[in-house]
Amino acid sequence: MADLVFERVGVIGAGTMGHGIAQVCAMAGMEATLYDLTDEAVAKGLAKIQTNLQKGVDRGKVDASLAQSSLERLTGTTELPAVADGADLIVEAIPERLDLKQSLFRELSSWTPDGTVYGTNTSSLSVAKIAEAAPDASRVIGLHFFNPVHIMKLLEIIHHPGTDPDVLERCVRFGEQIGKECIRIGDFPGFATSRLGVCLGMEAIRMVEQGVGSAEDIDKAMVLGYRHPVGPLKLTDMVGLDIRMHIGEYLAKELGNSAFEPPQLMRDMVADGRLGRKSGRGFYDW
Ligand code: NAD
Repeated sequence: MADLVFERVGVIGAGTMGHGIAQVCAMAGMEATLYDLTDEAVAKGLAKIQTNLQKGVDRGKVDASLAQSSLERLTGTTELPAVADGADLIVEAIPERLDLKQSLFRELSSWTPDGTVYGTNTSSLSVAKIAEAAPDASRVIGLHFFNPVHIMKLLEIIHHPGTDPDVLERCVRFGEQIGKECIRIGDFPGFATSRLGVCLGMEAIRMVEQGVGSAEDIDKAMVLGYRHPVGPLKLTDMVGLDIRMHIGEYLAKELGNSAFEPPQLMRDMVADGRLGRKSGRGFYDW
């Protein structure tokens, strides 16, 4: 397709987010290469894409020929030069650690062509700090997708002070081409989504702790009273209490705001292995 902003996309990390990012790019007509550290992780990511597409076909939401052509545009690899070679966009979706993301971008710079845009799917880290490790910080941008990527409409695009405005506009067009609604957000801790979502989640946990109401009733207050699709406590269970606790600690420190400080109840639940959906128990039994 001649009018695609990016024709060859390399996705690094084939986990929860990476496989979905590769899927939506391939469905929009881009050649997508999915990279992970082991053959097993790559195969798992590609298998999840196949399952998603098949479910889409079964439910009449995805055309069978589009599912087939999308799979043909996807490749998997454990070779970093292979994912970087000819890529005009790289999106990283590796664990939420600054040192890992920086060393990945540093390593990639030897193989990517001049002009490659580097996107990071970080949910809270400073995009400017990640950009320090890239060959050209002006081509580094936050591309924050939501889980599950092939279903969730939002793409939060984070521009740091050095991001080239043209790169930002191209990423907005890219977002539209993969069927997302884009928002442009500055590089502040937690961006728009995590900052508001985690703040609400922490307050809801403090309310359970203080005996304001049960988890079910506090969630119902927001679902029925404010039309939230899911309550803040159920959402915390879905994301994982441990993940949210770490984001809360990071935001409390970076923003100097104790509202983000994880309540004692949350710390106790994490220490007790009550991490939410992934461990079978959190504020709810799963
Ligand atoms: P995940 O653990 O499911 O997947 C990470 C993948 O990266 C794994 O397959 C792992 O093998 C691979 N990996 C680890 N180290 C690597 C390295 N050095 N090089 C290449 N691959 C490596 O994680 P995830 O949930 O997909 O999260 C990835 C990123 O997306 C994080 O920054 C996270 O904060 C962000 N994010 C997550 C969600 C979510 O709901 N899970 C939502 C938005 C953003």
